[in-house]
Amino acid sequence: MSLFYSALLNFEEMDILLAALIYTIATLIITYLAWKKRISWKKAFLLSLLLTPFAGAIYYSNTHILYTYKEARYKCQRCGFYFTTENEYCPHCAKDGVKVPLIKTYATMT
Ligand SMILES: [Zn+2]
Repeated sequence: MSLFYSALLNFEEMDILLAALIYTIATLIITYLAWKKRISWKKAFLLSLLLTPFAGAIYYSNTHILYTYKEARYKCQRCGFYFTTENEYCPHCAKDGVKVPLIKTYATMT
């Protein structure tokens, strides 16, 4: 009798373990998919972990990324010109004989 109960208990433990395993795998899959989609994988991970992987899946399918990236620009404060290449001084102003250090800024590109 006690053997039967312990076997039953083991099955229940197995079920919980299996459910936890599936839960974890589903969470990881959604996190990975979100990462591949370049949306916030941290958000997908937390949603999946805290609110079941279904929430993560909903977040994944409803979030569309606007492909933006930051591009470095080097601005001259004297002539207001932006350069895409890094120079120690503004080449335009250097022709005028003025050495103007360029300031690095970031432009959001779509
Ligand atoms: Zn300049």
